[in-house]
Amino acid sequence: MTIDDHSLPNKTDPVANLAAIREEINLALVEAGKPADSVAIVAVSKQHDVERILPALEAGHRIFGENRVQEAQAKWPDLISRFSDTELRLIGPLQTNKAKEAVALFDVIESLDRPKLAAALAKEIKKQEKTPALFVQVNIGEEDQKSGIAPSAVQAFVDDCRDEYGLSIEGLMCIPPADADPAPHFALMAKLAKSCGLHSLSMGMSGDYTIAAQLGATHVRIGSAIFGQRPPK
Ligand SMILES: *Cc1c(COP(=O)(O)O)cnc(C)c1O
Repeated sequence: MTIDDHSLPNKTDPVANLAAIREEINLALVEAGKPADSVAIVAVSKQHDVERILPALEAGHRIFGENRVQEAQAKWPDLISRFSDTELRLIGPLQTNKAKEAVALFDVIESLDRPKLAAALAKEIKKQEKTPALFVQVNIGEEDQKSGIAPSAVQAFVDDCRDEYGLSIEGLMCIPPADADPAPHFALMAKLAKSCGLHSLSMGMSGDYTIAAQLGATHVRIGSAIFGQRPPK
């Protein structure tokens, strides 16, 4: 029932970890003067197989994140047919030629990071008459190797999504720079979301979810602290 042993592959119990993490987040929220249970836990199940995911579903968890369309297509349709209120979120980069599959499978796409993808998603949303919620990915640390919209361009991009592509944006998502204090990045994300009039904020991973929750996350994306270390690909 500890989350400290999440480096031990398969020694860890995802259901117990989820409960412990929820409690930890609630303590952090209350400490920050925020209501308990105001942050959704996205259980990041990438690279874990169906047998590893199933107990979390059976225990009632419903919000999951995957980072590859093809992997999610192999794992999730059967699970979703059994647990129809599952909310499946795409948190990894999306190629325009996978927009069709992504719109068909995911309830939320968190990685909208460029105009070309906005155009491709708009086309599919119209065609399939299915509207996943969309988050704009922000390159909050302005790192060359990371995708995402630069902080100074977020407002214009959100406006363009609406005005040029007819897409409504629900929130912002970020992956802050590794090996740096995430707090200033989370704080800037909260400021950006507020100035864009967006209410949802996906930030915080296994190493920093309590800080993210205190700084305004509405969704934290947690993989290894729930499921243990990911098996090698
Ligand atoms: C893998 C991944 C996570 C989860 O990472 P952990 O450190 O295992 O919690 C969160 N967000 C994104 C975008 C990811 O790719």
